[in-house]
Amino acid sequence: MLKILLASQNPGKLREMQFILKDLPIQIIAPAEIGIHIQVEETGKTYAENAALKAKAFAKASGLISLGDDSGLEVDALDGKPGLYSARYAPSPNATDADRRAFLLKNLRPHPRPWKARFRATIAIAHPSGEIFFTEGICEGEIIPEERGTGGFGYDPIFYLPDKGRTMAELAEEEKNSLSHRAKALEKAKDFLLKL
Ligand code: IMP
Repeated sequence: MLKILLASQNPGKLREMQFILKDLPIQIIAPAEIGIHIQVEETGKTYAENAALKAKAFAKASGLISLGDDSGLEVDALDGKPGLYSARYAPSPNATDADRRAFLLKNLRPHPRPWKARFRATIAIAHPSGEIFFTEGICEGEIIPEERGTGGFGYDPIFYLPDKGRTMAELAEEEKNSLSHRAKALEKAKDFLLKL
């Protein structure tokens, strides 16, 4: 079994990655399992830069191949915002995910619908030798003005998938993991991971 370290302390991401890679001879482990507790500042100007910052820092700290990701929501009517700043898009410093959704809807209200949007994720896989590999995944949809569903996290309750007739928060975990931006990016990384 090839061991790969997830460059994130987020238990939701760990579950998601483990699910997507479950058929491969790969074990994804969390930093806490091997006593690593570093925090990496996301100072990059692109998703790829942030994903690489995380993957490289964890590979250096552990000596293991490490997988970092960075993602965001891009709304056309807001010229691609919140984008890279999705996690920090907020009216106040202590804002919650619900506050961020409300803030996004407030900013969108003056614009005509449909509010086309996409989630974008970049994955960086860093080898301790310094070699690095990137993939990207996109999930298209639109923002709707009322919250629907209780699954997922972040912007999921207002991210509507026209093909499914449901929001991301109304999908079962397995369904989200088959079509999400992260799932698509990770799917593309499978061949590279198998070569390792
Ligand atoms: P990061 O990739 O952990 O830096 O997260 C970026 C931010 O984008 C998250 O905090 C969410 O606000 C948003 N985001 C990324 N992926 C998703 C998703 O699958 N559902 C809902 N929001 C997401």
